[in-house]
Amino acid sequence: MEYVDHVVDLVGNTPLVRLNSLVEGLAPLVLAKVEYFNPGGSVKDRIALRMVEAAERSGELKPGGTIVEPTSGNTGVGLALVAQRRGYKCVFVCPDKVSEDKRNVLKAYGAEVVVCPTAVAPEHPDSYYNVSDRLVREIPGAWKPNQYANPQNPESHYFSTGPELWRQTEGRITHFVAGVGTGGTITGTGRYLKEVSEGRVKIIGADPEGSVYSGGTGRPYLVEGVGEDFWPTTYDRDICDEIIPISDADSFDVTRRLAREEGLLVGGSCGMAAAAAIELARRCGPDDVIVVLLPDGGRGYLSKVFNDTWMSSYGFLSPDHSGATAGDVL
Ligand code: PMP
Repeated sequence: MEYVDHVVDLVGNTPLVRLNSLVEGLAPLVLAKVEYFNPGGSVKDRIALRMVEAAERSGELKPGGTIVEPTSGNTGVGLALVAQRRGYKCVFVCPDKVSEDKRNVLKAYGAEVVVCPTAVAPEHPDSYYNVSDRLVREIPGAWKPNQYANPQNPESHYFSTGPELWRQTEGRITHFVAGVGTGGTITGTGRYLKEVSEGRVKIIGADPEGSVYSGGTGRPYLVEGVGEDFWPTTYDRDICDEIIPISDADSFDVTRRLAREEGLLVGGSCGMAAAAAIELARRCGPDDVIVVLLPDGGRGYLSKVFNDTWMSSYGFLSPDHSGATAGDVL
């Protein structure tokens, strides 16, 4: 019989899928590392597993303990899965701007969700950050993974994503492209690939225009999960050979094309990373092998990136990607 003991045993070892139509006419091989194949549906399952295992080893997380983290999305799902397997409770703190659908996903996995007002300053007692800190102090046996400062975040990629890519490409990868949020993915994967290739593999960050990583100040942008208005310690500022800023319009355009032309229904940060990979591919040759990491699936964004009304309201929808309208003959 072929089975795993628990769905958590399926974290990692995600496939590489060649991009075709999006890079038509360009010389290099461009491969997507499709992270929605993780059991929680995103790359964050990897960090959740490793952060929890390390906290168990260090004694910070004890049997019956509670995981408390300010997160509204992918990291919460990963933590909830691992917590279930190992008998911990989860309390996630999220701002009220987070959609009810996203909160319901966390609840469906058995987590408790505490909602905080968005319209208060970070130093306000009801802010997202202060509420999670207070819960950690008040709940007995509470532990906060803190993905923005936990070294296990980049390490999970150093020990899983990096070696997987080296093995899957038989050492032929020449460029690795990923979006930067906490910076864990690019730092850990990049460090491994640079070490194993003795510096040959180039590491390319993709960043929403306006975020600090590409020289901005944290100006608002709509793509979710990437870019910051501060410098997290999980990001190694020396890891990237280049950072390519991508506009929201280009991120969302490529996201929709990934679904429509490549059969990959993925999130907006995936379109952003793929847009950077396409830009890079224009400058590369036939011997180059570019791998772009796609962090999550697109189902969580159906009412945004994949909704024509939402897209039009921000002026994003170009006529050639607006899809069929009522008058079209299908
Ligand atoms: N895309 C999405 C959808 C994410 O949730 C994240 C994590 N914040 C990222 C990209 C960026 O990954 P990292 O935090 O490892 O830089």
